[in-house]
This record gives sequence, structure tokens and C-alpha cells, in this order.
Amino acid sequence: MFIRIITFLLLYSSAVFCGDCNFNLPYCGLSCNLDLSYRNLSNIKKLLNNDDKFVALTFDDGPSNNRVNDIINVLESYEAKATFFVLGERINKKTYEIVKKIHEAGHELGNHSWSHRKLTSLSSEEQLQELEKTNTAIKNAIKQDIKWFRPPYGCHDDNLIENTNKLNMYSILWTVDSLDWQGDKPEALVERVLSNVHNGAVILFHDHNNRSNTIEALPHIIKILKKSGYKFVTLSEWEERVCNTVKARSVTIKEGEKVRFEGMLCGQKTKSLTAEHLY
Ligand SMILES: [Zn+2]
Repeated sequence: MFIRIITFLLLYSSAVFCGDCNFNLPYCGLSCNLDLSYRNLSNIKKLLNNDDKFVALTFDDGPSNNRVNDIINVLESYEAKATFFVLGERINKKTYEIVKKIHEAGHELGNHSWSHRKLTSLSSEEQLQELEKTNTAIKNAIKQDIKWFRPPYGCHDDNLIENTNKLNMYSILWTVDSLDWQGDKPEALVERVLSNVHNGAVILFHDHNNRSNTIEALPHIIKILKKSGYKFVTLSEWEERVCNTVKARSVTIKEGEKVRFEGMLCGQKTKSLTAEHLY
């Protein structure tokens, strides 16, 4: 028991104590060259208007053997789609079918590394192995290339981003953290997510161990957000919607005019963007 507690603390507390994690390191991805760093993801809310409301639910650390079916059932009953960032080492004979099921239900699968180690502490070669082995394990099940990567604990540096891009993947963090791994009651998760949600939010949950608080909170969160007009999309659909907005906004902005969403595009972190930056 003691060892399990220590392992748990080591595994999940690093998100809090990971001193060298620079969440705001700018890194590019997507067809509209969006900066996917944490701060810029949060700026998504400045970009989107509220005519078309959507969020991306994401579940890290699976595939879990016991609770993923509950998550899939909840999502199905609300016609919600989500993205599951799985660990390569958790894909085995038992969970292989679960990975297939996630895919067949219309959800997206992303790479969350092989072993959930802090990848910035590994050599470049080891990083690539973590990424490639996991891609292979997921692809064996779903016969499709993997587009999204989420670094364990959000820890990334230039080298890891470069390696992610080498494999034609985009690294993406989140904008709303449910902190469900802390074991809070479902009501606390509902409150935390709803008080932080915004249009275009990428919401982080976990799919590992029991996670009964997540399963209980999820229908409430989805039901309330759905009532407010939100759709629940995979990250690829999220990308499409965000990029379409960037492109649509760029058309309506006159030459030289300052736009309101500073720092959204790569390489334009501190300056206000002008129309020419967007074309
Ligand atoms: Zn994780």
C-alpha cells in the first residue's frame, strides 16, 4: 500500500512540482500555424465568438481496463466526442479491444508516451522511442496515423516538440484542468470545470484506476454545457473549427488593422498582430 501511495505521488504530483516545465514555450502546429502553448491555447477564448460553441474533452493515462466503458457510454448518451491520450505500455491483450472500441465509437486517440516518464529528462533517442513505440501500439489497433501528442505532466522543451513534429504529430496541452486525479468529490469537479470553461476549451480528465469521481461528474458537466449550447468535439474537429475562425477573421481584418487576439500565431508572441500576419 505504502509503495502504491509513493508511486501515485511520484506519478501525479510531478505536474505540480515539475520545476523545469515551461508550459508557455511557444510551439506551432495545425494548418493555421497556431501557437499551441498553454498561454496561447487560453487565448482561444478571445478568438472565438459565441455563435458556435464547442469544447474538446480529453482523457489521459488510459486505456484503463475498468472504467473506460463507463466513459464511452456517458459520451454516447450525450452524442459527445472526445480524445483519449493513451500510454503505450497500457495497451495489452486486454486493452487492445478497448482502444479499438474508442476508435469505432468515433473518438480520437492520441499519444501520451509509452511509460509516462518525464520526457524532458530523457535523451532525444529515448524520447523518439517513447513516441514511436506508442504510435505503433495504437496503430496496430486502429490502423490509422496518430496526430496528437500530449506530454506527461505537460513537460516539454524544444527538443521534444521537434521530435513530435518529426513524427508528424502536434503536441497539445489543455486550457481547463479538472484535477480529477486529486480524488476530489464529483461536485468539486463539476464546479471546477464549469467555472473555468470557455469556448474552444480543451478540458483535461483522466482515465485510469477507479476514477469514479470523473465518471460521476461527467454527465453533469456535459448536460449543463450542452444546455448552454456547447458541442463536444474531437481535437481534430477542434482544430478545424479554430482554424476556420482564424481564416474567417483574417478575411474581415483590413490591412494594417490591429486585431484583438495578440499572440495567437507562432512567432508573433508579444506583438499585436496586423492583417498581414494573418494572411
Ligand atoms: Zn498523464
